[in-house]
Amino acid sequence: MYSRSQQLFSRAQQSIPGGVNSPVRAFKQVGGTPLFIKKAKGAYLYDEDGNQYIDYIASWGPMILGHAYEPIVEAIREKVYDSTSYGAPTELEIEMAELIKSMVPNVDLIRMVSSGTEACMSAIRLARGYTGRNKIIKFEGCYHGHADSFLVKAGSGVATFNIQTVPGVTAGVSADTLTCAYNDLAAVQQLVEANKGEVAAIIVEPVAGNMGCILPQPGFLEGIRSLCDAEGIVFIFDEVMTGFRLAPGGAQEKLGINADLVTYGKVIGAGMPVGAFGGKRAIMECIAPLGNVYQAGTLSGNPVAMIAGFTLLNELKAKPEIFAQLEEKTAYLHKGLDEVLSASNVEYSINRLGSMISVHFGKHAVVDFSTAAACNIEQFKTYFHHMLRSGIYLPPSAYESWFLNNALSYEDLDKTIQATNAFVS
Ligand code: PMP
Repeated sequence: MYSRSQQLFSRAQQSIPGGVNSPVRAFKQVGGTPLFIKKAKGAYLYDEDGNQYIDYIASWGPMILGHAYEPIVEAIREKVYDSTSYGAPTELEIEMAELIKSMVPNVDLIRMVSSGTEACMSAIRLARGYTGRNKIIKFEGCYHGHADSFLVKAGSGVATFNIQTVPGVTAGVSADTLTCAYNDLAAVQQLVEANKGEVAAIIVEPVAGNMGCILPQPGFLEGIRSLCDAEGIVFIFDEVMTGFRLAPGGAQEKLGINADLVTYGKVIGAGMPVGAFGGKRAIMECIAPLGNVYQAGTLSGNPVAMIAGFTLLNELKAKPEIFAQLEEKTAYLHKGLDEVLSASNVEYSINRLGSMISVHFGKHAVVDFSTAAACNIEQFKTYFHHMLRSGIYLPPSAYESWFLNNALSYEDLDKTIQATNAFVS
């Protein structure tokens, strides 16, 4: 069933570290051979062995309308003939910035970069430059990319591989990254108090997606917002996963809380390598060439990447019903999974907001990294492989959210619920 993927994985390991270009792809937590993907269309992935899978990863978020969405493919095709890069400004970059501002009203200025890591790294540098302070607060199990400052108690692959200290990150850099448990407002208040006048920024995934899907409890983000206002701290929402997915205006709109800076990633490139950071004018004006906080990129605002993201965001803006449809589909899946799991003797909990969802094998509420880590990872592994054999591609780690795409049919969702039922029966 996986023979060609197995061959390719052996071959890949001869020339690519661990056979993969990003660690979570290695199936290390769940074991087995990562699938080598040949192509994808709509809600389905096709591997090199010709197997078809219902895709719940959606390239880790961006494929909101499904893979190879025709208008996006066409827009890229047309654009690419004009050249793949100029390294000079284009009108399309203005259109992109204007479109994002129209969807996210509290973004005054926005700068394009080429990945979520770059977006978050730049936002932190900017917050430090703006405030003249060095320390940042991040939350255990949140992942903001692989820049040095973020590799302290990080989620996603860092948690999946159980890496406590990342070699190569200096103790000096790590000392400036303070951490708290997600959803623990009192701990944040204490940390700010203990480091009064020294905290430049608090960065958070407003809905965490890198330790499974974890929702902010009522009052958590609101409390941090007030704290940041009182202490002159820059509040950064990392919306790399949630931006343009939870609502046209992302988590800010869905939760009704404004950040000072927002970071975006893969979604705004429709799967092309794009990221961005934006926010309040007074802060953003510190960035070069307006200010001396230096940040740059040869491929930033790349025309092919821009047209892909622009086409996706335009569709999302023009058709707000997409968000309602995604919500309905994910709620349907949630209900179906709940029914089959509750009828079994498996201990579980399901977290969901909008089209982000995850199943945790444990009875307790999963509200932060330690409650996520206390779940039965062995059971997740068996579930993952059972689902894979049933033609369903889930994230290969219990510490990742599932992402629904709007190409999924109710038949696909029923198949997923039935496969879960077969797992627990
Ligand atoms: N922030 C969040 C919330 C993410 O989920 C990710 C990656 N999944 C990043 C930042 C880093 O983005 P990238 O992998 O594009 O560098």
